[in-house]
Amino acid sequence: MRYSQLFGKTTKIAPKEADTASHKFLVQAGYVDQLGAGIYTLLPLGWRVHEKIENIIREELDAIGAQELGMPVLHPKSLWAETGRWDKIDPPLFTLEDRHGKELALGSTHEEVIVDLVRDRISSYRELPFSLYQIQVKFRNEMRATGGLLRVREFVMKDLYSFHEDKKDLEQYFKKVVGAYKKIFSRCGVDAIVSQASGGTIGGTETYEFQVISDVGEDEIIYCPSFAKASEGKPGCHFAENKEIAKSKEGGACPVCGEKLKRAKTIEVGHVFALGTKYSEKMGATFADKDGKKKPVEMGCYGIGIGRLMATIVETSNDDKGIIWPKGVAPYDAHLVHVEDPGTESHAEQTYEKLTKAGIDVLWDDREDVSAGRKFADSDLVGIPVRLVVSAKAGDKVEWKDRDKKKTELLSVDEVVKRLKELHLRVT
Ligand SMILES: [Zn+2]
Repeated sequence: MRYSQLFGKTTKIAPKEADTASHKFLVQAGYVDQLGAGIYTLLPLGWRVHEKIENIIREELDAIGAQELGMPVLHPKSLWAETGRWDKIDPPLFTLEDRHGKELALGSTHEEVIVDLVRDRISSYRELPFSLYQIQVKFRNEMRATGGLLRVREFVMKDLYSFHEDKKDLEQYFKKVVGAYKKIFSRCGVDAIVSQASGGTIGGTETYEFQVISDVGEDEIIYCPSFAKASEGKPGCHFAENKEIAKSKEGGACPVCGEKLKRAKTIEVGHVFALGTKYSEKMGATFADKDGKKKPVEMGCYGIGIGRLMATIVETSNDDKGIIWPKGVAPYDAHLVHVEDPGTESHAEQTYEKLTKAGIDVLWDDREDVSAGRKFADSDLVGIPVRLVVSAKAGDKVEWKDRDKKKTELLSVDEVVKRLKELHLRVT
């Protein structure tokens, strides 16, 4: 992609109410554009990151046997009346009336819709278990939409629902989803802590959040710092609780291993609920078990907000110059900066063509009326993991610099291709 032709370039003007790094950088680097309070357009660069996150999620959920489908955004009031959540859910639903005076809601979650779908299609234990997910737009009538993509009113969410004949089977699948979530967040380059939480208005017997430590987070957890040891392969524990439900205190002893507990502000990037039969009982989603006895189906539901995850990645991976994308979610593999020294045009062109032909996604800053200094600053702001420079100084080689390192190296174009292909293999 030639940067001169990219729609949505960098801007020096920071958004007025930007109180988070992700809000400021995603707007300034040309990833998103704000339409209203908590309403954003994903520009071409932002859409690429969004799609990469979506595809990581798809791969990990398909790997645990989940099937993708697409459910409607418009929900009839009658369905929400069956569970009593029409005017109880928090944040409240966006509601509207059609021209016949029928009330509808813009979906904020899909338990009602999916239970309605499933109850007409299962009759026997032989049809269980199964799990279905969608990646689709959701609406939340938030009181305060702040922090850029962290708290919005319209966003794309991955929501997964699973259906089981008994609690044991639900528990087993629940563990599989927790495992898949760990892989998803790790591939997106964020350290998520699995923390016990309250079910809120979704409910359930067991509920966990995936929390990422960040000063701009609106949640708080009490956690055992020895989880870090566990991630280093040493013995450690994973005790963590949302402060809303925490029985333990900061500075107190971890109930699992005795270590001194810590407190941290966090961003919730995922939420998993073992719903049990809360929805299936109310809505009559039943099946005949092995003895022919009618039973309500056991359910789990599991969510990840894509935009919020994207913003969280930026919150935890940036410096004073801009974003530092982890390789698995970066919009492009490399950012080719052409310093417009006389006589270097054909080398820049050939480098771009060779990389592109090798299947590497390159963003080429080919602008002629922009200084080298501005191009370097833009490349730091945009945050693609590898910067390549063609200039008189680099001669017939290309200068390689990792976004998160100071060191530069001169490499031949062939070496650049080889190295980028190796990096690509490592993240996919
Ligand atoms: Zn512990």
